[in-house]
Amino acid sequence: YGEISLKDIDQVAKSSFPLCMRHLFEKLREDHHLKHGGRMQLGLFLKGVGLKLDDALAFWKAEFSRKVGAERFDKEYAYGIRHNYGKEGKRTDYTPYSCQKIISSTPGVGDHHGCPYRHFSEENLRAALDKMGVGNRAVQDVMDKVRNRHYQLACTLTFEAIHGASCDAGINHPNQYYNDSKNILE
Ligand code: SF4
Repeated sequence: YGEISLKDIDQVAKSSFPLCMRHLFEKLREDHHLKHGGRMQLGLFLKGVGLKLDDALAFWKAEFSRKVGAERFDKEYAYGIRHNYGKEGKRTDYTPYSCQKIISSTPGVGDHHGCPYRHFSEENLRAALDKMGVGNRAVQDVMDKVRNRHYQLACTLTFEAIHGASCDAGINHPNQYYNDSKNILE
């Protein structure tokens, strides 16, 4: 894994995050809050991307403070972030979630985690793909894969459409999507 600094994170989210993480990232920026499932899915991904613990705390605090206040963040949410980095509890160094794990999760009302190819309505997915810059033709191909429940293939086609490059191995992990994207863009 490389490293990522806070000043680059918005730019990189746009260019190299898979849709599942981009959606969580945008919701966090918009609502200044994410429920537990979202904090886990995005938080561990960001750790995998190379966001250092101190930067992660600053990142989450900047958003959550606007919703619940800095004091409540320190009391209720900072622990979870340190925990993800293996600094609390059993001190396990948790690994980022794979696509399989994310696809088989069951987000409830108000949750933003999960895999958009699996969990978004067709309308919302089309809108999200459009916003990512996927052309009409490619959107049709993605929707065909979704209808056949081939979510990771749908994500792979999205990757290929956005990057104008093939991804022969297919997408099986959000951090792999990120790394492959960086390799192409850098
Ligand atoms: Fe994320 Fe994987 Fe779904 Fe792509 S296929 S959006 S990387 S969970």
